[in-house]
Amino acid sequence: MNKNESLAALYREAGINGLLSPPESNPKVAKNGKLGVAASVLHLAAGDMSGHEVCPKRSPGCSAACLMTAGNPAYLQGKTQARIKRTKLYFENRDLFMNILVLEIAKAIEKAKAANMDPAFRLNGTSDIVYEKKKFKLYPWVAEKLNLRHFDNTGTILELFPDVQFYDYTKIPGRTPPPNYHLTFSESEINAEDVAKEMARGLNIASVFPIKAVPKTHLGRPVIDGDEHDYRPADPAGVIVGLKVKGLGKQDATGFVHT
Ligand code: SF4
Repeated sequence: MNKNESLAALYREAGINGLLSPPESNPKVAKNGKLGVAASVLHLAAGDMSGHEVCPKRSPGCSAACLMTAGNPAYLQGKTQARIKRTKLYFENRDLFMNILVLEIAKAIEKAKAANMDPAFRLNGTSDIVYEKKKFKLYPWVAEKLNLRHFDNTGTILELFPDVQFYDYTKIPGRTPPPNYHLTFSESEINAEDVAKEMARGLNIASVFPIKAVPKTHLGRPVIDGDEHDYRPADPAGVIVGLKVKGLGKQDATGFVHT
């Protein structure tokens, strides 16, 4: 391995500091710890903030209420700039982006295992990318370093780590992810037809409610507290995942927040 074959060298080439946020960086994701899960999250610049669209099925309500606007405003600007850089990298040098991601995932797996926890990954923290269709080329030295020589460069990151759990929310209907990628379908103010179809396909539905008005049932299904933790693969089947509104969503007038 020469000096250009390291994660630090890839960061320099990409002009970024990293892709994944560790579990402890988000209080709700940190709550997965009580289930023995350490989940790392990838945040891109939601919508088309970077000049590239990462949420093809977003609605006016979810765009305005987006979690990009939740959190401490003091850190928002730096955070947004980092997300924009990452998103540009994803579109402009996919192989570099994906090889960095592979190395970070491998590190996070090691760290979780050392803490006796199960690693998990949420790659669409603030995006809606169909990762089960995104192929890339693994650099030979990365394959060698991580003992991933089985990867034939025609697969996806989900296939590269078949024993690791990935999970996301999505508004894109009809997705057919592999068994290690759990999806929860997100309701917006404009996708009732897709919600009905995804319910019929067996997916749980995530819906946003006012903080003090989370109902017991919605769309004929029981509502569970989706803020108790973030690890959706642990949810029972056939439920609505009730999320309390955050950030600018508190001012929603589109119907995205269900009152
Ligand atoms: S689809 Fe999700 S990430 Fe994208 S704008 Fe809507 S709430 Fe934000």
